[in-house]
Amino acid sequence: MLRCIECGREYPEDEVRYRCDCGGLLEVVIDLDKVENVFDGKNITLWKYKSFIPVEKRVSLNEGGTPLYRLENLQKELEMRELYVKNEGANPTGSFKDRGMTVGVSKALELGMDKVICASTGNTSASLAAYSAKAGIRSYVLVPSGKIALGKLAQAIVYGAKVVPIRGNFDDALRVVVEASRELGVYMLNSINPFRLEGQKTIAFEVFDQLGFVPNNVILPVGNAGNISAIWKGFKELYEAGFIDKLPRMIGIQAEGASPLAKAWKERREFKPEEKPETVATAIRIGNPANWKKAWKAVEESGGSLESVSDEEILKAQKLLASKEGIFVEPASASSLAGLIKLKELSLIEPDESYVLITTGHGLKDPNIIIENFKLPEPIEPSLEAFKEVL
Ligand SMILES: *Cc1c(COP(=O)(O)O)cnc(C)c1O
Ligand SMILES: [Zn+2]
Repeated sequence: MLRCIECGREYPEDEVRYRCDCGGLLEVVIDLDKVENVFDGKNITLWKYKSFIPVEKRVSLNEGGTPLYRLENLQKELEMRELYVKNEGANPTGSFKDRGMTVGVSKALELGMDKVICASTGNTSASLAAYSAKAGIRSYVLVPSGKIALGKLAQAIVYGAKVVPIRGNFDDALRVVVEASRELGVYMLNSINPFRLEGQKTIAFEVFDQLGFVPNNVILPVGNAGNISAIWKGFKELYEAGFIDKLPRMIGIQAEGASPLAKAWKERREFKPEEKPETVATAIRIGNPANWKKAWKAVEESGGSLESVSDEEILKAQKLLASKEGIFVEPASASSLAGLIKLKELSLIEPDESYVLITTGHGLKDPNIIIENFKLPEPIEPSLEAFKEVL
Protein backbone atom coordinates (compact mmCIF):
# COMPACT_ATOMS: atom_id res chain seq x y z
CA MET A 1 0.00 0.00 0.00
CA LEU A 2 1.12 3.55 -0.76
CA ARG A 3 0.31 6.29 1.74
CA CYS A 4 0.46 10.07 1.38
CA ILE A 5 2.73 11.66 3.98
CA GLU A 6 0.53 14.79 3.97
CA CYS A 7 -3.11 13.67 4.07
CA GLY A 8 -2.78 9.95 4.78
CA ARG A 9 -4.76 8.87 1.72
CA GLU A 10 -3.93 5.35 0.57
CA TYR A 11 -3.43 3.87 -2.89
CA PRO A 12 -2.74 0.35 -4.16
CA GLU A 13 0.84 -0.52 -5.12
CA ASP A 14 -0.07 -1.91 -8.53
CA GLU A 15 -0.99 1.43 -10.08
CA VAL A 16 1.56 3.79 -11.64
CA ARG A 17 1.52 6.75 -9.31
CA TYR A 18 4.21 9.05 -7.95
CA ARG A 19 2.23 11.51 -5.85
CA CYS A 20 -1.04 11.77 -3.96
CA ASP A 21 -3.91 13.64 -5.62
CA CYS A 22 -3.28 16.32 -2.97
CA GLY A 23 0.26 16.71 -4.34
CA GLY A 24 1.90 15.08 -1.31
CA LEU A 25 4.78 12.60 -1.44
CA LEU A 26 3.90 8.93 -1.12
CA GLU A 27 5.57 6.23 0.89
CA VAL A 28 5.30 2.46 0.79
CA VAL A 29 3.79 1.00 3.93
CA ILE A 30 5.45 -2.30 4.88
CA ASP A 31 3.63 -4.99 6.83
CA LEU A 32 6.03 -5.30 9.75
CA ASP A 33 4.32 -8.46 11.03
CA LYS A 34 5.82 -10.26 8.05
CA VAL A 35 9.45 -9.11 8.19
CA GLU A 36 12.20 -11.52 9.16
CA ASN A 37 14.91 -10.94 11.74
CA VAL A 38 17.96 -11.81 9.63
CA PHE A 39 20.38 -9.47 11.39
CA ASP A 40 23.16 -11.91 12.22
CA GLY A 41 26.07 -9.98 10.67
CA LYS A 42 26.58 -12.60 7.93
CA ASN A 43 26.33 -12.72 4.12
CA ILE A 44 25.32 -9.11 3.78
CA THR A 45 23.73 -8.09 0.47
CA LEU A 46 20.72 -5.92 -0.27
CA TRP A 47 18.41 -8.81 -1.04
CA LYS A 48 19.16 -10.45 2.30
CA TYR A 49 16.45 -8.07 3.56
CA LYS A 50 13.88 -9.14 0.97
CA SER A 51 11.08 -9.43 3.53
CA PHE A 52 11.26 -5.62 3.89
CA ILE A 53 11.28 -5.01 0.14
CA PRO A 54 7.92 -4.60 -1.62
CA VAL A 55 8.67 -6.26 -4.98
CA GLU A 56 8.68 -9.90 -6.09
CA LYS A 57 10.66 -9.58 -9.32
CA ARG A 58 14.40 -9.04 -8.98
CA VAL A 59 16.64 -7.22 -11.43
CA SER A 60 19.95 -7.43 -9.61
CA LEU A 61 23.64 -6.76 -10.17
CA ASN A 62 24.53 -7.90 -6.62
CA GLU A 63 24.18 -4.48 -5.03
CA GLY A 64 24.64 -3.69 -1.36
CA GLY A 65 26.96 -5.48 1.04
CA THR A 66 29.23 -2.44 0.88
CA PRO A 67 32.14 -2.20 3.34
CA LEU A 68 31.84 -0.46 6.68
CA TYR A 69 35.25 0.79 7.79
CA ARG A 70 36.43 1.99 11.17
CA LEU A 71 38.42 5.17 10.54
CA GLU A 72 41.28 4.38 12.89
CA ASN A 73 43.55 7.19 11.70
CA LEU A 74 41.02 9.99 11.37
CA GLN A 75 39.36 9.03 14.60
CA LYS A 76 42.62 9.67 16.42
CA GLU A 77 43.33 12.86 14.52
CA LEU A 78 39.86 14.26 15.22
CA GLU A 79 39.93 13.05 18.83
CA MET A 80 36.76 11.04 18.50
CA ARG A 81 35.90 7.70 20.00
CA GLU A 82 34.10 5.83 17.26
CA LEU A 83 34.07 6.84 13.63
CA TYR A 84 32.99 4.70 10.66
CA VAL A 85 32.46 5.06 6.94
CA LYS A 86 29.88 3.07 5.00
CA ASN A 87 31.34 3.18 1.52
CA GLU A 88 28.55 3.12 -1.03
CA GLY A 89 31.03 3.66 -3.86
CA ALA A 90 31.50 -0.11 -3.74
CA ASN A 91 28.13 -0.75 -5.39
CA PRO A 92 27.99 -2.18 -8.96
CA THR A 93 27.90 1.20 -10.73
CA GLY A 94 29.76 3.02 -7.96
CA SER A 95 27.00 4.73 -5.98
CA PHE A 96 24.13 4.02 -3.59
CA LYS A 97 21.70 4.73 -6.43
CA ASP A 98 22.01 1.02 -7.32
CA ARG A 99 20.05 0.17 -4.18
CA GLY A 100 17.17 2.28 -5.42
CA MET A 101 17.39 1.02 -8.98
CA THR A 102 17.43 -2.71 -8.25
CA VAL A 103 14.05 -2.20 -6.60
CA GLY A 104 12.82 0.55 -8.94
CA VAL A 105 13.55 -1.27 -12.18
CA SER A 106 12.12 -4.49 -10.72
CA LYS A 107 8.96 -2.52 -9.96
CA ALA A 108 8.90 -1.16 -13.52
CA LEU A 109 8.82 -4.75 -14.81
CA GLU A 110 6.06 -5.71 -12.38
CA LEU A 111 3.99 -2.80 -13.63
CA GLY A 112 4.60 -3.92 -17.21
CA MET A 113 6.55 -0.80 -18.15
CA ASP A 114 9.17 -1.18 -20.88
CA LYS A 115 10.58 2.34 -20.83
CA VAL A 116 12.05 4.21 -17.88
CA ILE A 117 13.23 7.77 -17.42
CA CYS A 118 15.05 9.94 -14.91
CA ALA A 119 16.59 13.35 -14.45
CA SER A 120 20.07 13.07 -13.02
CA THR A 121 23.14 14.88 -11.80
CA GLY A 122 24.97 11.75 -13.02
CA ASN A 123 24.79 8.75 -10.72
CA THR A 124 21.08 8.13 -11.09
CA SER A 125 21.51 8.01 -14.87
CA ALA A 126 24.46 5.61 -14.66
CA SER A 127 22.53 3.33 -12.35
CA LEU A 128 19.23 3.47 -14.22
CA ALA A 129 21.06 2.74 -17.47
CA ALA A 130 22.79 -0.33 -16.02
CA TYR A 131 19.69 -1.86 -14.44
CA SER A 132 17.63 -1.17 -17.56
CA ALA A 133 20.29 -2.93 -19.63
CA LYS A 134 20.07 -5.92 -17.31
CA ALA A 135 16.26 -5.88 -17.49
CA GLY A 136 16.23 -5.46 -21.27
CA ILE A 137 14.19 -2.25 -21.25
CA ARG A 138 14.80 1.21 -22.73
CA SER A 139 16.11 4.06 -20.57
CA TYR A 140 16.07 7.82 -21.11
CA VAL A 141 18.14 10.15 -18.97
CA LEU A 142 18.09 13.94 -18.85
CA VAL A 143 21.23 15.59 -17.49
CA PRO A 144 22.33 19.20 -16.97
CA SER A 145 24.56 20.02 -19.94
CA GLY A 146 28.23 20.39 -18.97
CA LYS A 147 27.56 19.73 -15.27
CA ILE A 148 27.86 15.99 -15.09
CA ALA A 149 31.09 14.27 -14.03
CA LEU A 150 32.95 12.49 -16.81
CA GLY A 151 32.81 8.97 -15.38
CA LYS A 152 29.06 9.11 -14.86
CA LEU A 153 28.41 10.29 -18.39
CA ALA A 154 30.61 7.52 -19.78
CA GLN A 155 28.64 4.97 -17.77
CA ALA A 156 25.23 6.14 -18.96
CA ILE A 157 26.45 6.05 -22.56
CA VAL A 158 28.08 2.63 -22.45
CA TYR A 159 25.15 0.96 -20.65
CA GLY A 160 23.05 2.13 -23.59
CA ALA A 161 20.76 4.84 -22.20
CA LYS A 162 19.42 7.55 -24.46
CA VAL A 163 21.33 10.48 -22.90
CA VAL A 164 19.74 13.89 -23.38
CA PRO A 165 21.66 16.93 -22.11
CA ILE A 166 19.45 19.91 -21.33
CA ARG A 167 20.20 23.62 -21.11
CA GLY A 168 19.42 23.98 -17.43
CA ASN A 169 20.13 22.45 -14.05
CA PHE A 170 18.87 19.28 -12.35
CA ASP A 171 15.69 20.96 -11.15
CA ASP A 172 14.83 21.95 -14.74
CA ALA A 173 15.54 18.41 -15.94
CA LEU A 174 13.30 16.91 -13.26
CA ARG A 175 10.44 19.19 -14.27
CA VAL A 176 10.65 17.91 -17.85
CA VAL A 177 10.89 14.29 -16.69
CA VAL A 178 7.79 14.61 -14.49
CA GLU A 179 5.84 15.94 -17.49
CA ALA A 180 7.27 13.31 -19.83
CA SER A 181 6.32 10.47 -17.49
CA ARG A 182 2.77 11.77 -17.38
CA GLU A 183 2.38 12.34 -21.12
CA LEU A 184 4.51 9.64 -22.72
CA GLY A 185 3.85 6.57 -20.55
CA VAL A 186 7.42 6.10 -19.40
CA TYR A 187 8.10 5.02 -15.82
CA MET A 188 9.86 7.67 -13.77
CA LEU A 189 12.64 6.53 -11.47
CA ASN A 190 13.66 9.69 -9.69
CA SER A 191 13.58 9.51 -5.92
CA ILE A 192 10.05 10.88 -5.64
CA ASN A 193 9.20 7.37 -6.83
CA PRO A 194 8.72 5.75 -3.41
CA PHE A 195 10.04 2.37 -4.58
CA ARG A 196 13.51 3.84 -5.05
CA LEU A 197 13.62 4.64 -1.35
CA GLU A 198 12.58 1.09 -0.48
CA GLY A 199 15.91 -0.07 -1.89
CA GLN A 200 17.91 2.71 -0.35
CA LYS A 201 16.57 2.11 3.16
CA THR A 202 18.69 -1.08 3.24
CA ILE A 203 21.68 1.14 4.08
CA ALA A 204 20.16 1.34 7.57
CA PHE A 205 19.72 -2.45 7.72
CA GLU A 206 23.32 -3.04 6.67
CA VAL A 207 24.76 -0.53 9.14
CA PHE A 208 22.92 -2.27 11.97
CA ASP A 209 23.76 -5.74 10.65
CA GLN A 210 27.47 -4.91 10.26
CA LEU A 211 27.94 -3.05 13.54
CA GLY A 212 25.65 -5.18 15.64
CA PHE A 213 24.28 -2.00 17.22
CA VAL A 214 22.67 1.28 16.20
CA PRO A 215 25.14 4.18 15.95
CA ASN A 216 24.29 7.42 17.75
CA ASN A 217 24.61 9.46 14.55
CA VAL A 218 24.46 8.99 10.78
CA ILE A 219 25.90 11.76 8.61
CA LEU A 220 25.32 11.97 4.88
CA PRO A 221 25.17 14.39 1.95
CA VAL A 222 21.77 15.73 0.95
CA GLY A 223 20.83 16.62 -2.62
CA ASN A 224 17.32 15.74 -3.73
CA ALA A 225 16.89 14.50 -0.14
CA GLY A 226 15.69 10.98 -0.92
CA ASN A 227 18.49 9.09 0.73
CA ILE A 228 18.28 10.67 4.17
CA SER A 229 14.53 9.97 4.10
CA ALA A 230 15.12 6.37 3.01
CA ILE A 231 17.73 5.59 5.65
CA TRP A 232 15.52 7.05 8.36
CA LYS A 233 12.63 4.90 7.12
CA GLY A 234 14.90 1.85 7.37
CA PHE A 235 15.84 2.54 10.96
CA LYS A 236 12.24 3.24 11.90
CA GLU A 237 11.11 -0.05 10.42
CA LEU A 238 13.75 -1.89 12.44
CA TYR A 239 12.53 -0.07 15.52
CA GLU A 240 8.85 -0.69 14.88
CA ALA A 241 9.51 -4.36 14.11
CA GLY A 242 11.13 -4.58 17.55
CA PHE A 243 14.61 -5.46 16.24
CA ILE A 244 16.30 -2.38 17.73
CA ASP A 245 15.46 -0.26 20.76
CA LYS A 246 16.99 3.08 19.86
CA LEU A 247 17.29 5.29 16.79
CA PRO A 248 20.18 7.35 15.41
CA ARG A 249 20.22 11.08 14.79
CA MET A 250 20.14 11.89 11.09
CA ILE A 251 22.55 14.67 10.15
CA GLY A 252 22.28 15.99 6.59
CA ILE A 253 25.03 17.96 4.88
CA GLN A 254 24.54 20.23 1.88
CA ALA A 255 27.04 22.19 -0.20
CA GLU A 256 26.94 25.90 0.64
CA GLY A 257 26.01 26.89 -2.92
CA ALA A 258 23.10 24.46 -2.96
CA SER A 259 21.82 24.45 0.61
CA PRO A 260 18.14 25.43 0.73
CA LEU A 261 17.39 22.89 3.46
CA ALA A 262 20.38 23.66 5.67
CA LYS A 263 19.64 27.40 5.39
CA ALA A 264 16.00 27.00 6.35
CA TRP A 265 16.97 24.74 9.25
CA LYS A 266 19.64 27.02 10.64
CA GLU A 267 17.65 30.20 10.19
CA ARG A 268 14.50 28.51 11.56
CA ARG A 269 12.37 29.61 8.66
CA GLU A 270 10.23 28.13 5.90
CA PHE A 271 11.97 26.09 3.22
CA LYS A 272 12.53 28.05 0.02
CA PRO A 273 14.11 26.58 -3.16
CA GLU A 274 17.37 28.03 -4.43
CA GLU A 275 17.32 29.40 -7.99
CA LYS A 276 20.93 28.93 -9.05
CA PRO A 277 22.56 26.05 -7.18
CA GLU A 278 26.35 25.86 -7.65
CA THR A 279 29.02 23.57 -6.18
CA VAL A 280 31.93 21.33 -7.18
CA ALA A 281 29.93 18.50 -5.64
CA THR A 282 27.80 18.04 -8.77
CA ALA A 283 25.84 15.11 -7.29
CA ILE A 284 24.22 17.48 -4.78
CA ARG A 285 23.97 20.53 -7.03
CA ILE A 286 20.21 20.76 -6.46
CA GLY A 287 18.23 23.87 -5.55
CA ASN A 288 14.77 22.37 -5.10
CA PRO A 289 15.04 19.00 -3.31
CA ALA A 290 11.91 17.07 -4.30
CA ASN A 291 11.89 15.04 -1.07
CA TRP A 292 12.51 17.93 1.24
CA LYS A 293 9.43 17.30 3.38
CA LYS A 294 10.40 13.69 4.06
CA ALA A 295 13.95 14.78 4.82
CA TRP A 296 12.83 17.53 7.15
CA LYS A 297 10.72 15.00 9.07
CA ALA A 298 13.66 12.60 9.27
CA VAL A 299 15.91 15.25 10.76
CA GLU A 300 13.24 16.58 13.12
CA GLU A 301 11.97 13.20 14.36
CA SER A 302 15.48 11.87 14.88
CA GLY A 303 16.72 14.93 16.76
CA GLY A 304 19.33 15.50 14.06
CA SER A 305 20.39 18.58 12.16
CA LEU A 306 21.25 20.07 8.78
CA GLU A 307 24.50 21.85 8.00
CA SER A 308 26.30 23.17 4.95
CA VAL A 309 29.96 23.10 3.95
CA SER A 310 31.99 25.09 1.42
CA ASP A 311 33.52 23.60 -1.73
CA GLU A 312 36.92 24.15 -0.18
CA GLU A 313 35.96 22.16 2.91
CA ILE A 314 34.56 19.40 0.69
CA LEU A 315 37.75 19.06 -1.37
CA LYS A 316 39.88 19.10 1.76
CA ALA A 317 37.80 16.32 3.30
CA GLN A 318 38.00 14.31 0.07
CA LYS A 319 41.80 14.48 0.18
CA LEU A 320 41.87 13.67 3.89
CA LEU A 321 39.72 10.55 3.56
CA ALA A 322 41.83 9.27 0.67
CA SER A 323 45.23 10.07 2.12
CA LYS A 324 44.54 9.00 5.71
CA GLU A 325 42.22 6.06 5.19
CA GLY A 326 42.65 4.90 1.59
CA ILE A 327 39.05 5.67 0.70
CA PHE A 328 38.54 7.65 -2.51
CA VAL A 329 35.08 9.18 -2.80
CA GLU A 330 33.55 11.78 -5.08
CA PRO A 331 33.19 15.35 -3.79
CA ALA A 332 29.50 15.08 -2.80
CA SER A 333 30.33 12.07 -0.66
CA ALA A 334 33.18 13.87 1.08
CA SER A 335 30.70 16.45 2.34
CA SER A 336 29.74 14.00 5.09
CA LEU A 337 33.28 14.11 6.51
CA ALA A 338 33.51 17.85 5.85
CA GLY A 339 30.26 18.25 7.78
CA LEU A 340 31.54 16.21 10.70
CA ILE A 341 34.70 18.31 10.88
CA LYS A 342 32.72 21.54 10.76
CA LEU A 343 30.24 20.42 13.42
CA LYS A 344 33.17 19.34 15.58
CA GLU A 345 34.77 22.76 15.25
CA LEU A 346 31.46 24.36 16.21
CA SER A 347 31.28 22.02 19.23
CA LEU A 348 27.98 20.69 17.94
CA ILE A 349 28.87 17.02 18.23
CA GLU A 350 29.76 14.66 21.05
CA PRO A 351 33.24 13.17 20.54
CA ASP A 352 32.27 10.23 22.74
CA GLU A 353 29.39 9.10 20.57
CA SER A 354 29.51 6.80 17.54
CA TYR A 355 29.29 8.29 14.04
CA VAL A 356 28.69 6.59 10.71
CA LEU A 357 29.49 8.67 7.63
CA ILE A 358 27.77 7.55 4.44
CA THR A 359 30.04 8.08 1.45
CA THR A 360 27.65 7.93 -1.44
CA GLY A 361 29.74 7.57 -4.60
CA HIS A 362 33.14 6.41 -5.90
CA GLY A 363 35.98 8.88 -6.44
CA LEU A 364 36.71 7.61 -9.95
CA LYS A 365 33.36 8.99 -11.07
CA ASP A 366 34.92 12.43 -11.18
CA PRO A 367 38.68 12.19 -11.78
CA ASN A 368 38.89 15.68 -13.28
CA ILE A 369 38.32 17.39 -9.97
CA ILE A 370 41.57 15.85 -8.68
CA ILE A 371 43.67 16.21 -11.83
CA GLU A 372 42.67 19.83 -12.41
CA ASN A 373 43.89 20.79 -8.95
CA PHE A 374 47.19 18.95 -9.12
CA LYS A 375 50.29 19.67 -11.20
CA LEU A 376 52.39 16.64 -12.17
CA PRO A 377 56.17 17.28 -12.16
CA GLU A 378 58.09 17.44 -15.43
CA PRO A 379 58.97 13.98 -16.83
CA ILE A 380 62.47 12.73 -15.98
CA GLU A 381 65.06 10.81 -18.03
CA PRO A 382 64.58 7.03 -17.67
CA SER A 383 67.57 6.48 -15.36
CA LEU A 384 68.10 5.76 -11.68
CA GLU A 385 70.26 8.89 -11.46
CA ALA A 386 67.45 11.14 -12.60
CA PHE A 387 65.01 9.37 -10.29
CA LYS A 388 67.31 9.86 -7.32
CA GLU A 389 67.45 13.56 -8.06
CA VAL A 390 63.70 14.05 -7.68
CA LEU A 391 63.43 12.04 -4.47
C1 LIG B 1 22.39 11.16 -5.49
C2 LIG B 1 23.61 11.44 -4.70
C3 LIG B 1 23.57 12.18 -3.52
C4 LIG B 1 22.32 12.83 -3.01
O1 LIG B 1 21.34 11.93 -2.58
P1 LIG B 1 19.84 12.45 -2.44
O2 LIG B 1 19.05 11.23 -2.19
O3 LIG B 1 19.49 13.10 -3.75
O4 LIG B 1 19.81 13.43 -1.32
C5 LIG B 1 24.73 12.35 -2.81
N1 LIG B 1 25.91 11.85 -3.25
C6 LIG B 1 25.98 11.14 -4.38
C7 LIG B 1 27.31 10.62 -4.81
C8 LIG B 1 24.84 10.91 -5.15
O5 LIG B 1 24.94 10.23 -6.29
ZN1 LIG C 1 -2.38 13.44 0.07
